[in-house]
Amino acid sequence: MNKPSNVVEMTPETNLGDNSTAAYDIEKIRADFPILSREVYGKPLVYLDNGASAQKPRQVIDAISEVFEQYYSNVHRGVHWTSQQSTTAFEGGRSKVAKFLNAPSENEIIFTRGATESINLVAHSWGRTFLKAGDEVIISHMEHHANIVPWQMLRQELGIDLKVVPIDDDGNFMFDEYENLLSPKTKLVAVTHVSNALGSVVPVKDVIEKAHAQGALVLLDGCQAVPHAAVDVQDLDVDFYVFSGHKLYGPTGIGVLWGREDLLNSMTPYQTGGEMISSVTFEKTTFKKAPHRFEAGTPAIAEAIGLGVAIDYVQAIGLDNIAAHEHGVLQYATERLLTIEGLKIIGTAKEKAAIISFDLDGVHPHDLGTFVDRAGVAVRVGHHCAQPVMDRFGVAATARASFGLYNTRGEVDALVDALEETRKFFG
Ligand SMILES: *Cc1c(COP(=O)(O)O)cnc(C)c1O
Repeated sequence: MNKPSNVVEMTPETNLGDNSTAAYDIEKIRADFPILSREVYGKPLVYLDNGASAQKPRQVIDAISEVFEQYYSNVHRGVHWTSQQSTTAFEGGRSKVAKFLNAPSENEIIFTRGATESINLVAHSWGRTFLKAGDEVIISHMEHHANIVPWQMLRQELGIDLKVVPIDDDGNFMFDEYENLLSPKTKLVAVTHVSNALGSVVPVKDVIEKAHAQGALVLLDGCQAVPHAAVDVQDLDVDFYVFSGHKLYGPTGIGVLWGREDLLNSMTPYQTGGEMISSVTFEKTTFKKAPHRFEAGTPAIAEAIGLGVAIDYVQAIGLDNIAAHEHGVLQYATERLLTIEGLKIIGTAKEKAAIISFDLDGVHPHDLGTFVDRAGVAVRVGHHCAQPVMDRFGVAATARASFGLYNTRGEVDALVDALEETRKFFG
């Protein structure tokens, strides 16, 4: 299959973001992702939907095949060779996640199916154990539905109150308003680290400090943060941190809940069954400690191993290098997009990750998405599972370009060209 022509023409140097180093070999990185060299509709695939899910490097694809071809078995159960091999590799995945987040202990890494399940786990297990009517949970106006609905369910069930931190016209988290909402009734602040719809980075360290001063815990939704920058849960001094494997160049079906060990062991299990028990009689069951306490049933074995390999992959490149590269692409894309007549960027926060939501005057986002798709450019259109954000900006949907570690300025040019064509077609 052909390489995208707009990439081949460029040398690594011309391709680099302003802050990138020569060590960031974009051609070598791109070559690791088989899908990036394919064409769609006879055009090079330009994949700008990383916020929804990222593509997988050969290393991850191979690791998953290797599990099934070489040593697959259920984990934690067998005395036989394959079970031991699988268990070692699976627990190795856990240990890589722990190092990735700088967690003090591997026991604090709970494997889930994804961030959605991780947040539901906290809402059920921690929420049902520790919350009562009148307690308050604070979220922000730019949460993904996964960090809204579980708390609404608790409101209905337990009578807790849900407070929402507003965002300003640029999509900044309004810190003063947040401080006003905090009170001794606040038991949990559950906010996104980076907005999936706007790219806004939330000042989470300050958020955590203020919450703790009121005796409240903090859960961060790190789905859009971990692919773009290094995260250190000890430095943040956070209480819960969640993310999904598939947005971090890993497989689907695997996600992470990190929580402080004492906190996790004080929580009632979410699901019950197989490996999570210490003993079962018909009178009484006792539960294991974290992480097994929260991993009922056979886990996603190959996926956890694949996630570990994805983490190895991004760490080999270096999160700081990735952040610098993406920052360069973000700046370039922002400048180029603003040259398009009638294009408005929604979300211009002071600090942003490489996500750009936009609106093109007179063109419905779905038409836009369909039109640029024919040019091989994949962008997301819709409400991005963040309808309150759309309401805040008075739109039903936006188009969104979200960049990953392999995206280039050449691909930004392809997007801009396709948008110019779109504008002419509909204009
Ligand atoms: C994608 C996303 C989620 C949900 O992740 P799943 O993998 O679908 O469970 C939650 N929050 C944010 C900010 C996201 O981007």
